[in-house]
Amino acid sequence: MPATDTGRPLPFLPFARPTIDENMVEALSDTLRSLWITSGPQVLAFEAALSRHHGDRPVRTFTSATAALEVALLVLGIEPGDEVILPAQTFFSCANMITRTGARPVFVDVDPVTRNMNLEAARDKITSRTRALMPTHFAGLPLDMDALYALAESHGLRVIEDAALAIGSRWKGRLIGSFGDLASFSFHPNKNITTIEGGALVFSSEELAVRAEKFRFHGISRLPDGTRDVVVPGGKSNMPDVNARLGLLQLERLDEFTRRRQQLVARYFECLDTDPPCILPARGDEGHSWNFFAPLLPLERLNRSRKDVMDMLHQRGIGTGISYEATHLTTQYRALGYREGDFPHSERIARETITLPLYPSMHETDVDRVCVALREVLHEARKK
Ligand SMILES: *Cc1c(COP(=O)(O)O)cnc(C)c1O
Repeated sequence: MPATDTGRPLPFLPFARPTIDENMVEALSDTLRSLWITSGPQVLAFEAALSRHHGDRPVRTFTSATAALEVALLVLGIEPGDEVILPAQTFFSCANMITRTGARPVFVDVDPVTRNMNLEAARDKITSRTRALMPTHFAGLPLDMDALYALAESHGLRVIEDAALAIGSRWKGRLIGSFGDLASFSFHPNKNITTIEGGALVFSSEELAVRAEKFRFHGISRLPDGTRDVVVPGGKSNMPDVNARLGLLQLERLDEFTRRRQQLVARYFECLDTDPPCILPARGDEGHSWNFFAPLLPLERLNRSRKDVMDMLHQRGIGTGISYEATHLTTQYRALGYREGDFPHSERIARETITLPLYPSMHETDVDRVCVALREVLHEARKK
């Protein structure tokens, strides 16, 4: 652990950390004491709060965003033979859930500046089998929603927005999820609000939401005689009440968390100045909710690997992450024929990206510490 000049060790800064206040701890205890711990009144209350937050659109919760994405595909009837277009630079869930429906994930490259799906590249991949677009709002920076929906509408495609990183993000002032087709949020501890594990889908119609309830709970439909019928081969991905109670209290603090993230990122932009220089992420506007802050390392000008840089930062008490590897180059998706060179921007981000600490309980001085450490490490690692 690094020491200050007073000899006191500095605390380790992880790259992400949830904010759990005493109020939340007490509320969870109350929910446990109520003995109604799986899906019940708290889930209904959390879904209602999420719905109010997103322009009164229908919302259902799940055990994860991964489960939510799978249900989104299932309620839209995506099936074997279909194709769904997604970016190569995003988390693995997207391609995996498409694959689990039997459909084919069709990757496209991202824009090197926004790191969001390149919509022109997506247009070129549309075939008679294409059913949906599944873009990610990368790190919380909204995709161009006007262009996205213009493309979808002109080809009669559904859209499942992977908004795992984008709760609280706004496009031209409107919250992501409050308009458009389907949007999926994640409440994993690294995301902007957490339910420990959890996710939610915002729907464009109540009919789809009711269908999703079947897919998340055994396919069950209740009959008038008190027995149950099974109407679809549903799985089980209902959120427990304990998690939903936490989600309600987290949602109350979302605006505050978002503002704090934005302030800390402003500090990064002020202070991060290395030699050789990193490529900083796109700044976006006040609609960017900044789930993570990930510069690209100038690896061509270093005589150390990214892993070395991450280890050197770790020795200085600074945690880092990688968001993300290029999905098309994983074993699972190489088997579809994808290769190095297919998506140069996604591959470059995958090689060079490093996620620096960012979470609401960080202080400005912590950001300064990260900036100083990265400057030292890159100075030491640079090619002479
Ligand atoms: C975290 C994440 C997911 C999956 O969320 P889970 O709740 O962990 O299943 C999907 N997409 C992106 C871009 C993510 O960052």
